[in-house]
Amino acid sequence: MSAVTSSPRPATIDCTRYARGLYIGGRWLPGADIAVVNPSTEEVLARVANASVADATAAVDAAAAAAAGWRDTPARQRAEILRRCFVLMTERHEEIATLISLENGKSLVDARGEVTYAAEFFRWYGEEAVRVGGEFRTAPSGSNRILVDYEPIGVSVLITPWNFPAAMATRKIAPALAAGCTVVLKPASETPLTAYALAEIYAEAGVPDGVVNVITTSTPGPVTNAMLSDPRVRKLSFTGSTGIGRVLLAEAAKTVLSCSMELGGNAPFIVFDDADLEAALDGAMIAKMRNAGEACTAANRFYVQDGIYDRFAAGLSARMAALKVGAGSDPQTACGPMITRKAVDKIEALVADATTRGARILQGGVRPGGKGFFYPPTVLADLPRDANLAYEEIFGPVAALYRFSTEDDAIAAANDTEYGLAAYIYTQDLKRGLSVASRVEAGMIALNRGLLSDPAAPFGGVKQSGLGREGGIHGILEFMEAKYIAADF
Ligand code: NAP
Repeated sequence: MSAVTSSPRPATIDCTRYARGLYIGGRWLPGADIAVVNPSTEEVLARVANASVADATAAVDAAAAAAAGWRDTPARQRAEILRRCFVLMTERHEEIATLISLENGKSLVDARGEVTYAAEFFRWYGEEAVRVGGEFRTAPSGSNRILVDYEPIGVSVLITPWNFPAAMATRKIAPALAAGCTVVLKPASETPLTAYALAEIYAEAGVPDGVVNVITTSTPGPVTNAMLSDPRVRKLSFTGSTGIGRVLLAEAAKTVLSCSMELGGNAPFIVFDDADLEAALDGAMIAKMRNAGEACTAANRFYVQDGIYDRFAAGLSARMAALKVGAGSDPQTACGPMITRKAVDKIEALVADATTRGARILQGGVRPGGKGFFYPPTVLADLPRDANLAYEEIFGPVAALYRFSTEDDAIAAANDTEYGLAAYIYTQDLKRGLSVASRVEAGMIALNRGLLSDPAAPFGGVKQSGLGREGGIHGILEFMEAKYIAADF
């Protein structure tokens, strides 16, 4: 996290050039109503178009008109277009990273990592597009054959959050296109410029008009509801908070729409006495501070065993204190601002609640004045189990430490949440690590690692962290339906 001193200077870009309007049917429909604010400075970077319900219907029209052609495009051709998306995005790596750090605020180091990760979805799903198989079996009764074919599910609505403006979009668009689906993407209104920059890449890579449409709106409820109730739409893929996920699932129920949901997290980070302390601290910094804590996989609750607790707390405090806080686009920055003032208010309230209940501040904990939505890297020790921090996503640079004695105690505490996205376990005893991994309720476990996101692996949660998986060989099937043919021969 702190190795940023040798980073090159960011590219110089004019953000207004990405605000060309709504991208529908391969054309730009001008508009400039929604201000995009740089969270590092509070300055307006650009203004993007504000889609109405009629615009959303036009986007579905375009996606529906392009559907048959794209579905019938040979998988090899779709794969090569996706590969070109990967190449073009990689060529524009520095420009897109700079754009992300300007509109999201994350450090350039994190933004560069995001672009690499995001582009990889095009490469991975370019490779997967030609590998979708089927089944051919004889029925157990012997009376007929069972044929199973996988077909594109159809027009898909994709909704993404602001914390990974590129990767959350490509993690959906790449498998959808590989599967043969056309899409309407609605990115978060805080970070729409990256989504529009990527639209230029689709066009240049040869994605036909209407296959990918991008719309921004200040009224996501009505605009999304109009698309979800449209009988031509067959899929909703959403990444965002569990609260909005519940609202969208209720809406999708009206048309029994297929839903993939990547929702909130509350990841436990469990450190046993026998852990390699330095490795655990390295992992903790990545798991906590990637994106300044604004990640669904971010370590939210650190459960640390009695025998290593004090050394871990001291080591983590020292590392957090060494992080340079600053504007995302400053190459020296390790911890950028939060996305909005409201986000900082929430973090401040969670820290106040924790200290009122008896937590000790070991590092940070004081909100700075001045411009920008900053909160310092913070370590809180001796959290009581009933602190709000134990149940709510912090989504910020605050590490909350809880002490535990026994393995059963740690697992019970880790599972005491409605979420189940990611979890981290540090122990040098592999048998214990795998045993604890099997008992922790999470869709993804990092064992002696601080990072688990990988385009080649299934990403997703259990409990109220979501439904379905993105990435890996699983992600493409979220955009396909199995068709069973009973054949008599
Ligand atoms: P959010 O408030 O739920 O917003 C996500 C998206 O939903 C945005 O595009 C937002 O648009 C849109 N939206 C809001 N209200 C809507 C409505 N009534 N109907 C349709 N769309 C609506 O989440 P966020 O604050 O952007 O992102 C942070 C959350 O995402 C955290 O909880 C985090 O854990 C989660 N997340 C999960 C994953 C994962 O893979 N599991 C990955 C990243 C983030 P506007 O921007 O216009 O409001």
